[in-house]
Amino acid sequence: MGTIDGLPPLREVIRTHDLVAKKQLGQNFLLDLNLTAKIARMAGDLSACDVLEIGPGPGGLTRGLLAEGARRVVAVEKDPRCLPALDEIAAAYPGRLSVLAGDALELDLPAHLTPPVRIVANLPYNVGTELLIRWLSPPVWPPFWESLTLMFQKEVAERIVAKPRGDHYGRLAILAQWRTEAKIVMHLPPEAFTPAPKVHSAVVHLKRLAAPRYPADPAVLSRVTAMAFNQRRKMLRSSLKGLGGDVEALLESVGIPPTARAEEIGLDGFCALARALTARP
Ligand code: SAM
Repeated sequence: MGTIDGLPPLREVIRTHDLVAKKQLGQNFLLDLNLTAKIARMAGDLSACDVLEIGPGPGGLTRGLLAEGARRVVAVEKDPRCLPALDEIAAAYPGRLSVLAGDALELDLPAHLTPPVRIVANLPYNVGTELLIRWLSPPVWPPFWESLTLMFQKEVAERIVAKPRGDHYGRLAILAQWRTEAKIVMHLPPEAFTPAPKVHSAVVHLKRLAAPRYPADPAVLSRVTAMAFNQRRKMLRSSLKGLGGDVEALLESVGIPPTARAEEIGLDGFCALARALTARP
């Protein structure tokens, strides 16, 4: 049976280039091109966008993105063994795939992209959360990207979309939902990957909002949520003591009972708290 793009099937690519998966690089490959094309479609219309892909590996998702019509894909890969396989894809899609060899955590990624930009990746688990936090915390908002469509371990995906009072609710939910619309768009079992990881996975789609849902200084919001969730089972009057001053009065001034716990407070409450703290003499 032919592939979606006439290039060899991924199992053959892996065999030809001897791409035995390396655990330390988080290598769990997607080999079903129909599945990677489906993930590409979850990212929206790519025809007028540069797509940034982190960790293309043997190129399954890269091929999905190109076949689905991405204007251009910029793919950053740390493992030099994958580069010859990616060169073959670049040759099949002239002028539409640029491969950057290196560590995504070290490179100046926006410098290689022309807006509008969408980020789509089956992220290496060991750097996924760090990259997400960076993308969600740019020096100025809106950021250089329009949307993020990212594969995570299911547990991390649930933390991103969590609502108050749930077990997964915490700093990541606040950071993500403050300035994006975040939802899980696909669940994948371990067997979807080669080799199969121990955990289930999920694809999260985050669409940037033009402005934050509620005003707040990002650094102050980050400080308050870190303090509140570091001791999530404690009452806020106690977990926020480190803010100094009259913490009970601060909480009451924004309508939060001092006996409430972090997991009960919504995004609006944390933003109000951050604003009150900023305004405090
Ligand atoms: N996109 C491919 C797929 O879906 O089959 C591979 C995904 S695999 C989970 C993660 C990929 O990220 C691997 O190819 C790995 O070599 C690469 N990688 C790991 N750490 C990286 C880093 N810091 N910067 C860029 N790529 C990295």
